[in-house]
Amino acid sequence: MTFAQNRYDSMLYRRCGRSGLMLPAISLGAHETFGGYRDAEATRSCLYRAFDLGITHFDLANNYGRPPGTAESIIGQILKDMPRDEIIVSTKAGYRMWPGPYGEWLSKKNLVASLDQSLQRLQLEYVDIFYAHRPDPETPLEETMAALDLIVRQGKALYIGVSNFPGAHVEQAVQITRQMGLTPITIHQPRYHMFERRCEYELFDHTERNGIGVIAFSPLAKGQLTDKYLGTELPEDSRASALWHKERIEDVVSSEKLAKVRRLNAIARERGQSLAQMALAWCLRLPAITSLVLGASKIEQIEENVAALQNLEFSADELKAIDEIVPQ
Ligand code: NDP
Repeated sequence: MTFAQNRYDSMLYRRCGRSGLMLPAISLGAHETFGGYRDAEATRSCLYRAFDLGITHFDLANNYGRPPGTAESIIGQILKDMPRDEIIVSTKAGYRMWPGPYGEWLSKKNLVASLDQSLQRLQLEYVDIFYAHRPDPETPLEETMAALDLIVRQGKALYIGVSNFPGAHVEQAVQITRQMGLTPITIHQPRYHMFERRCEYELFDHTERNGIGVIAFSPLAKGQLTDKYLGTELPEDSRASALWHKERIEDVVSSEKLAKVRRLNAIARERGQSLAQMALAWCLRLPAITSLVLGASKIEQIEENVAALQNLEFSADELKAIDEIVPQ
């Protein structure tokens, strides 16, 4: 397989915290789409197109796909035809994967076993980033951080990350890695988008102070921050039609939400962008953010989303107008 010669010409790469790792401003994730409501062929075409556009980072988790694990198996097959040293693969453990007391959360037993299973499905010797997927209220954080350190020392992951950790929990984890001389946290993966701004006052101070990069997930609010739900009918080829339950759909198409999306869409059009493009540019306005991990079900969406990088500037008036619609 050959890829575009000019694949590094237009993507923006940002340094992940105080590490040596550079990530593309836009990364591609597999949750729900790949190995879920999009098949192996669609996954392959999306990954290839993404890579041609300079997207070097693909994000996974042990439980992505239907049944859980399918996304890793499908993408593992595709990665065989791609240049491994030009690609950053991440996976995670923490959500329930197998029955019994060892199949979820952040014990050493779960983290080590889950990553071994992921590596088998991915047919890789190592992943670039391995995440603790969610905070564990029971396991001592010392055990979790030591297990992540062990995994790096064993060569099964190059960098470690945490996901969905509140700011205070990040702070505790950092202290533990320092006191115990463990591998530092390189990256945090929180939810962040126009409708979900908690990170701005709850997390980013902690990540910036500790030199941790941030890759924000669901920057398009799962498709709500695009023009796809603006019409009166739910598009047939959408995630909403494929997966969402009634209450969720009602939230998306509720008159209050839709009114906000329409106002945001008008601002985007004035900027000469689609709503998806403005939603991505808006997240990237913050220096705390290294990358955005978004989902896509078609190559056209990837192309549109990457084109957001052509206009990342916001005027003070635009930011004020957006704040009025989606206040912090
Ligand atoms: P996004 O906000 O990125 O939404 C992606 C969806 O939006 C696509 O599947 C597509 O929906 C639609 N879309 C994308 N681009 C466009 C466009 N230009 N025009 C119209 N519609 C568009 O959220 P995701 O939930 O997909 O999350 C992205 C990634 O974040 C995941 O794959 C995963 O890697 C990560 N993640 C991490 C979590 C964690 O706990 N750490 C939790 C959730 C996600 P459609 O299919 O309907 O066309």
